[in-house]
Amino acid sequence: MSPRTALASLADPGLTDTLALFQNGAELTRADVATHTGWARVTVTTRMEKLLQDGLLEPYDERGGGRGRPAARYRLAVGSGVLLVADVGATGMRLARCDLAGKILATDSRDSAIGDGPAQVLSTVREAWKALMRGKKGIQPWGVAIGLPGPVEYPRGRVVDPPIMTGWDGFEVSEAISGWYDTVAHVENDANALAVGELAAAAEAGAPVSDLLVIKVGTGVGAGIISGGRVLRGAAGAAGDIGHTEADNITGRDDRPICRCGKVGCVEAYAGGWALVRDAAERGLDVKDVQSFLRHLTQGDPIARALTAESGRVIGSAIATAVSLLNPEQVVIGGSLGLTGDHLVAGVRERVYARSPPLATRSLRIETSRLGHDTGVRGLAHELSRRVLLGASASA
Ligand SMILES: [Zn+2]
Repeated sequence: MSPRTALASLADPGLTDTLALFQNGAELTRADVATHTGWARVTVTTRMEKLLQDGLLEPYDERGGGRGRPAARYRLAVGSGVLLVADVGATGMRLARCDLAGKILATDSRDSAIGDGPAQVLSTVREAWKALMRGKKGIQPWGVAIGLPGPVEYPRGRVVDPPIMTGWDGFEVSEAISGWYDTVAHVENDANALAVGELAAAAEAGAPVSDLLVIKVGTGVGAGIISGGRVLRGAAGAAGDIGHTEADNITGRDDRPICRCGKVGCVEAYAGGWALVRDAAERGLDVKDVQSFLRHLTQGDPIARALTAESGRVIGSAIATAVSLLNPEQVVIGGSLGLTGDHLVAGVRERVYARSPPLATRSLRIETSRLGHDTGVRGLAHELSRRVLLGASASA
């Protein structure tokens, strides 16, 4: 069964609705499906037979036969295809091969500079995906997804006017990558991918959340918003671009620093990794990039620590407004700077609790990401799985 043939069967909403019941590993009998849907027995049988035939469902019954044998159970045939995802950052990428339910089976990392342009970066992605598929003869990717550190027009999957991504403006990423495997493609802003990853991880850990604000602090600063259990992308996909909003100057700097986007005084120009590299070098620290800044931070350098805490306060000040507007249950800090030590999250806490109204902060938790560096690929895989199995309408 080719991915195309199987996926074509999902144009029938009845089949999509049936398959939806099996998401998240549910094992159901035909009677269960009839109960959940209210469909006639013959309808249930026809739809499930089609999904079994297409290799999307498989029989599952670990209790075996015997007298009083329970009715046969079925589950999603997660092994019949794979998903390939790539979480691309400013200076490196994390890639994964996943099963159809979005579970990560293998991962890889590569260095890559986003400013090298789409041809170079996407060729690194393709090469790494090929390596992840080695030895998997006969198994095809049913979907591919990429997260990018810039504004992604939704649902078209095109990069629009990214401040740092030379050569990417207007590039149709979705079209390019879907052509490699003739399959479904999903292109997402990196912070949105983190947000979906956190949402999925919380649900898996048995502590589901529905209102979440995820801040990615790496070279740049971005936010992903989950509201009512769904990603809030806004009208065009630009929601959450907090890094280029105007910052409160709480750092005591005399000047208003110029941002990579060309404006002055952006949050990122005070608090992004590249800004901390600039400030650390001004204070005499031997740093040339975000990686070397992180090394100083890990080694406990007091300048690196102070700058990181200050970055947290600038970001906290910026998201206090978002906390007032959105009233999330949880703020999660991720990205390479957010994940290194607790200086940044401490700064964020300080400002958010000082600035947001008591009702919004009464039960608010502000924490670092529970999945660490795999949150982005986890989020991309989760969203792609929904998209592949349930169609784009289910994942908007
Ligand atoms: Zn800016």
